[in-house]
Amino acid sequence: MESENKFKVCISCNRDESIIPLVAITFAQQPTWICTQCLPTLIHEPQHLVEKFKSMDIDNPVDRQID
Ligand SMILES: [Zn+2]
Repeated sequence: MESENKFKVCISCNRDESIIPLVAITFAQQPTWICTQCLPTLIHEPQHLVEKFKSMDIDNPVDRQID
């Protein structure tokens, strides 16, 4: 079944917020999510994730809760 992705997903491993905590980040003015397991990768090997950002699914925006 093809369902809409209601959960935020990690940009690196694509796991969603129902199975792992996600942290909101921005890169190159693109807000997205990364899970706590992938966060060390981002810290130590940011270049590894740059391609992910470039091909990032824009349909996974960070919810803004700004009034
Ligand atoms: Zn991840």
